[in-house]
Amino acid sequence: MRDPDCIFCKIVAGELPARIVDEDERTIAFMDIAPATHGHALVIPRQHSPDLASVPVEDLTAVALASQRLAKRAQERLGADGVNLLNSCGAAAWQTVFHFHIHVIPRFASDPLRLPWVPAEGDQDDIARAAQELSA
Ligand code: AMP
Ligand code: ZN
Repeated sequence: MRDPDCIFCKIVAGELPARIVDEDERTIAFMDIAPATHGHALVIPRQHSPDLASVPVEDLTAVALASQRLAKRAQERLGADGVNLLNSCGAAAWQTVFHFHIHVIPRFASDPLRLPWVPAEGDQDDIARAAQELSA
């Protein structure tokens, strides 16, 4: 399945340029055009799904495995000290391209990235209420 307006579908089809660093039957990975750190890449399924909620389990699995491959490569070849995997699901969660993807962000002890929240003790009632609503 393909969305004619989707830039990542165009990358999969070879209609937009990308620096591809990994591919398999279900996924491709390419360098992010606006990297957060040295080596920042994106892993996507070849088939279009808008986001985490809609991606089929086979594509989700393949993207997770490809992300692990790239994360290890970032440590081995770029000398990354760590790696963040990031997925944004929904505009409220910062998603800007609505073709499911995982960011593979190599981390270096000296890089400028900071946690986007300040860890602080939470409200126990709120935590308990959310736990109840989330429980299977
Ligand atoms: P998100 O905001 O989580 O949806 O991530 C979208 C990412 O796609 C951003 O980090 C963009 O820099 C990146 N991006 C957008 N267009 C391109 C492109 N043509 N090639 C590579 N990366 C892109
Ligand atoms: Zn797409």
